Amino acid sequence: MSIARAGLESEVADEPVGAGGSSPTRFRPADDAADAPADKLAAQVAQRIEADIIRNGWPVGDVLGSEQDLQGRYGVSRSVLREAVRLVEHHQVAGMRRGPGGGLIVSAPDAGPATRALVIYLEFIGLGAEDLMQARLLLEPLAASLAADRVTEEGIARLRDLLAQEVARDEEPGLDSQDLLHVLIGELSGNPALHLFIDVLTRLTSRYVSTTRRITKDELAAGKATSRESHLAITEAVIAGDTGRAAGTTSQHLVEVGEKLRTLRGKRAPRAGGAGGSTAEVPGAKLAEVIAGRIHDEIARRGWPIGHVLGSESDLLARYGVSRAVLREAVRLLEYHAVARMRRGPGGGLVVTAPEPDASIDTMALYLDYRGVTPEDLRAVREAIELGTLGQVMARRDDPDVSDRLTAAIARTDEPTAPGRTGADRFHTELAVLSGNPVLVLFLRILTELWSRHTANTASPTPGPDAAATVEHIHKRILQSLLDGDEGVARHRMRRHLEALSAWYD
Ligand SMILES: [Zn+2]
Ligand SMILES: [Zn+2]
Repeated sequence: MSIARAGLESEVADEPVGAGGSSPTRFRPADDAADAPADKLAAQVAQRIEADIIRNGWPVGDVLGSEQDLQGRYGVSRSVLREAVRLVEHHQVAGMRRGPGGGLIVSAPDAGPATRALVIYLEFIGLGAEDLMQARLLLEPLAASLAADRVTEEGIARLRDLLAQEVARDEEPGLDSQDLLHVLIGELSGNPALHLFIDVLTRLTSRYVSTTRRITKDELAAGKATSRESHLAITEAVIAGDTGRAAGTTSQHLVEVGEKLRTLRGKRAPRAGGAGGSTAEVPGAKLAEVIAGRIHDEIARRGWPIGHVLGSESDLLARYGVSRAVLREAVRLLEYHAVARMRRGPGGGLVVTAPEPDASIDTMALYLDYRGVTPEDLRAVREAIELGTLGQVMARRDDPDVSDRLTAAIARTDEPTAPGRTGADRFHTELAVLSGNPVLVLFLRILTELWSRHTANTASPTPGPDAAATVEHIHKRILQSLLDGDEGVARHRMRRHLEALSAWYD
């Protein structure tokens, strides 16, 4: 286990899922701690603005009010409001338009920058091929089966078109390009959370492959032939509406992809030699985002040297050939995702920092809300992830750590993880952390963040003290069957529990 990954675990253990309420303040570097109260207030105001937008059904284009209106509505100073607006803008939930008829305008969020930041974060903490393929095996067969169930004539045309393009691209080196069929099936599943997660996972896979030193021509050709056959089989099963076959062929294909990744592992280039390069290709991305992506890649190429100065502002202006305004916006994005920060004064410049995922988690949760993720969508993807983590943890149930940590998490059920949040998430986070798969920990944090934001801002009955006792009891029963090694019963209890939970989300 890498040091960085150990860091993730301790962070999650200290601040479990649901602590997102205070997370927007945590992107600040530690030496700005004196500003914490104002930051915290700004983060709270940002959350209230976002909650208002969600409650109003996300009316894209609506003007929420002028700066003055908003200062009055939320009762804060101009500087706090401006900081809150910056957060809301980073989340791509709304943007401030200056001038007459201006004000804070609701926008359509785009998960692109957050997706790229999360991909780079997962790379940074050293996600292994096993973790990656485990997550894909949990989510993609589910997506294929849902796609088979829901596919339309238009979907069929898009699937056939994509396969034809794959055949046409035969001459190009195909292994390092993103596996688009998987993303399309994610989209056709009709579940925005599955679509987003599969997008992240396929990007990670292609970056993993692109950092391998060398693949022989024969290996490449053999790899492509088997992929194309599998893709054809998956596509035909989806088109025919055969849910079982769609899931089965997808699993089989992913097992083959996993084998391939394993054989590549020995050839993996050191991080410093990695090709990077998948962040700058995004069509329609703003110039500042593109530049932030290039700087991201440069940091990854250099092996993520924390504390290293990449250059002064004028060095970077010359290196990237952009205006000061564009560079500053790019730096703000990098600072937001804790990838690098600008240090002023002599010896200053853009300093590499350790990235952390909180900002991306918030953005993705909001994006899924905007995409209209339903309680059933959430339940389905949460079930896939949590049954996966349950299986992993069951395999190591004799480790005393398992019983100790889960028991401790259950004991703190009625202790909120943050103001207005329930402590019930701790049990689920702890299971994910114990599974040892950082990608599952992150995906679960996105889902529970979304969950908390929703249940905190709707009139639905939220779990009271009685509910907390019920939840505690259920968690104890899941733990008992887990420790007994009774996998069937443990899965049954987890599934019924998640079904009951989804009644609280509306
Ligand atoms: Zn594939
Ligand atoms: Zn629970």
